[in-house]
Amino acid sequence: MALTSTSTNLSTIPFLIGGKWISDTSAHFTHINPATGEANYNICAATEAHLDEAVQSAHEAARRPSWRNMLPHERARILHRIADLMIERSDVLARCQMLENGKVWKECKNQVINGAATFRYCAAAIETLGSEITPPRGNYLSMTVYEPWGVVAAITPWNSPITLSCNKIAAALAAGNGVVLKPASYTPTCGIELGRVALDAGVPPGILNVIPGSGSKIGDALVSHPLVRMVSFTGGTEVGRRISELAGKKLITTVLELGGKSPHIVFPDADLNAAADAVTVAIFEGTGQSCTAGSRLFVQRKIIDEFISMVMERARKLRVGRPDSPDAQLGPLASFGQREFVESIVDGARREGAEILIGGARPSDPDLEKGAFYMPTMVTGITNSSPIAQQEIFGPVLCVLPFDDEEDLMRQANDTSYGLASGIWTSDYKRAWRVARGLEAGMVWINTYKQFSTASPFGGFKDSGIGREKGLMGIRTYQQVKSMFWSMSDSFDGGFSIAK
Ligand code: NAD
Repeated sequence: MALTSTSTNLSTIPFLIGGKWISDTSAHFTHINPATGEANYNICAATEAHLDEAVQSAHEAARRPSWRNMLPHERARILHRIADLMIERSDVLARCQMLENGKVWKECKNQVINGAATFRYCAAAIETLGSEITPPRGNYLSMTVYEPWGVVAAITPWNSPITLSCNKIAAALAAGNGVVLKPASYTPTCGIELGRVALDAGVPPGILNVIPGSGSKIGDALVSHPLVRMVSFTGGTEVGRRISELAGKKLITTVLELGGKSPHIVFPDADLNAAADAVTVAIFEGTGQSCTAGSRLFVQRKIIDEFISMVMERARKLRVGRPDSPDAQLGPLASFGQREFVESIVDGARREGAEILIGGARPSDPDLEKGAFYMPTMVTGITNSSPIAQQEIFGPVLCVLPFDDEEDLMRQANDTSYGLASGIWTSDYKRAWRVARGLEAGMVWINTYKQFSTASPFGGFKDSGIGREKGLMGIRTYQQVKSMFWSMSDSFDGGFSIAK
């Protein structure tokens, strides 16, 4: 783990409960910068007692009428103010992410800008999303109203902490909940700084609490806490399964955004230049640490050699470098442990006879020696059932696989436990339609890849998750539904008649 016991000469970052900054150092750890191997700072980690305090605080704050019954335009004003402050502090927020997971500066800045846009979308949505009058039924007025769950546990991973925290916090606050955010230990300060932004924007103390700490200790306890009424989790499939079990015991709702091993499909009639650009970005952006990475490239056999050369040519020119370097396109992996994991999978495939077309090694540049860097890697000579083609790697590793015809493609593309994203390149719109409808995936990109919108629901099929975030559906995820029936009669006219 990039987290070690503590170092005393570093600044110590507190966490946020009930609007107060907690500097309890009893369980703190040192954060290591994955680009340099040097210590960034010490982080105060929450204990189970802090976790209980955070949940109680969110519970009390969320029950207050001033928050629960806040008028939509007042709530929207606070969400807009958060967005404004995020933009004002975009350098601070982007730097938190860059220092902690090594994403390149431009990507970090874009994630802050997009995160602010998520708050604005939720602000607009909450002012326009209404309750519903359902079809008239005799002498009754029947309606559906939406209410907050109460306390939402938001648990985030390390790969895109700004984006993923914003997706959860913006929708949960718009829906009127209190939130306890548990960021990943590798990336705690994005959530902490978002907590500061929210407080400064006028979110009442206790409505957003941010408690870094070990997933297995406080993460489990957070999900199991009796006052937590909904869990929004983004992370790996195995942890998602564990959270679902714990939440199932309490009969509470979860939204689970989990792993992926997404097929990226190229037919010979596609614009091959555009497809090769997209394939390169789809896997290597973020150094492959993206749940939607197009990690399995399927190319129809008759063009596979030509197309592989096109992608290799592009991948060879990618600039791996320190995330603060203006030229860098790929930073390090987010931790040294993650690099070891990636290396072990590529080495395993190599031992089993896979051909490593490019990469498969650390960079030779001595300036990058101390960081967790790994070169863009393309692997062939495998089948779709090889471990490297089935397991989520979460690194810059592209598996190249041939297909013969559409039937063969569909069989292979869907032969995975995951179902998060997919991409199709073809100029035949009928084929695009057939393939898109046949793919078992929550997202399908046609002649493009990695287009996202705050307005489009996001989530996966199969082991890639349950439920949806983003879009109007994403706000409803953070609300419970209440049906109401109002009689317009002078007497009760239901069931059997009562003798008088
Ligand atoms: P992870 O599952 O190891 O951890 C995610 C979070 O869960 C962290 O905050 C961690 O501390 C916490 N956690 C760990 N054990 C826990 C437990 N028992 N109870 C409660 N919380 C616990 O994931 P990661 O390694 O941080 O992130 C990588 C994974 O996230 C990949 O599988 C990736 O595909 C997935 N991911 C999915 C999406 C999506 O939207 N579908 C987006 C980004 C990342």
